[in-house]
Amino acid sequence: MKIILNPGREKSLLRRHPWIFASAIISVDMEIVPGATVDLLSSEGKFLARASYSPISQIRARVWTFEDESVDKDFFRRKIQTAIELRKMSRVENHTNAYRLLHAESDGMPGFVVDQYKDMLVLQSTTAGSDFWKEIIADVLVEETGIQNIYERSDVDVRELEGLKPITGVLRGTSTDPQLQITEYNLKFNVDIQHGHKTGFYLDQCANRQRVGEFAKDRDVLNCFCYTGGFSIHALANGAKSVLSVDSSADALALLEENIALNRVPADRHTSIEGDVFQLLRKFRDENRSFDMIILDPPKFAPTAAHAEKASRAYKDINLLAFKLLRHGGVLFTYSCSGGIDAALFQKIVASAALDAGVDARIIQHLSQGSDHPVSLHFPEGAYLKGLVCVKG
Ligand code: SAH
Repeated sequence: MKIILNPGREKSLLRRHPWIFASAIISVDMEIVPGATVDLLSSEGKFLARASYSPISQIRARVWTFEDESVDKDFFRRKIQTAIELRKMSRVENHTNAYRLLHAESDGMPGFVVDQYKDMLVLQSTTAGSDFWKEIIADVLVEETGIQNIYERSDVDVRELEGLKPITGVLRGTSTDPQLQITEYNLKFNVDIQHGHKTGFYLDQCANRQRVGEFAKDRDVLNCFCYTGGFSIHALANGAKSVLSVDSSADALALLEENIALNRVPADRHTSIEGDVFQLLRKFRDENRSFDMIILDPPKFAPTAAHAEKASRAYKDINLLAFKLLRHGGVLFTYSCSGGIDAALFQKIVASAALDAGVDARIIQHLSQGSDHPVSLHFPEGAYLKGLVCVKG
């Protein structure tokens, strides 16, 4: 089965970028079913790569391999073994028992995200190609990790672009316990893998939560977009004077309360507010409230570059308000997980927020996603999480 590219459109593949857009294709064999494996050929008929076929998505093909090798169970076993080795090499298990095992394109497995929560794997399949191989991958995951339970959370919006319906439920094993408990940096968190965001927890921020803890002692902390309290618990456990957590989700805040109780951190130093961060920051500004440390970890305002302009305004808005609310010497942990905003643009936005707030600040650290979320050098889109630690004054 083959796809022939327009003249000149093989360039991205020669740079080992794994996507082929519909506009790059001149002809497709008639009988290819969604998700099937195809050969990508140059206009001169030269083999370039072997890929999965997505008949509906603008990203029409995603590369499994640039070699002329078979794509079968053993091929995926090798990919999964390499991914497991990488996590071992980076010693991620030294500080957490929950981490990302497969990070899609960056692990050579487009469409597959697999997160390990202790003795449970949560699998997310986002493309026709990953749906095609899902059962085989589930078998290999059980064989290679020894973990018997896999829960599926293929309920992300991007599936619509592939013409796929959401699928959730038990994929392997029998465990139907909706809640499990993980430990990161000796702190415990209850995770709801069935209904929580992403696969249940923001694993990408693990090391950054620990970093927040290191700055928290004796500080009044405002944690915006707190979800189930990751940053809040780390701050409380490390001697914060007070922590105020804000999120619009009542379910997330209910789990946060459970997590406070689980860790026996001083609950009397913690307050949570269910509300909109944009409105609340304005209210705090009008009330002349101030903090020693502010965390801004908003949801993805710009999934793609098309949303960048509107998203930039939203990032600037919250960062400007945060700079105003910070005391002299206060620390801002500010993040963007938007694929449509790169690190340079994010830094520019934060700089212009400080300028308009009339404050001086310096960056003392650049942060990113953890090593369990690797970035393929040929797929820079994989580097989605940007963070800056800024000190005011
Ligand atoms: N820092 C968290 C993850 C934050 S995810 C952690 O480490 O676990 C972003 C959160 O922002 C989600 O919990 C979502 O419910 C919340 N949210 C989205 N829009 C919001 C808004 N306008 N105001 C308050 N919370 C919002």
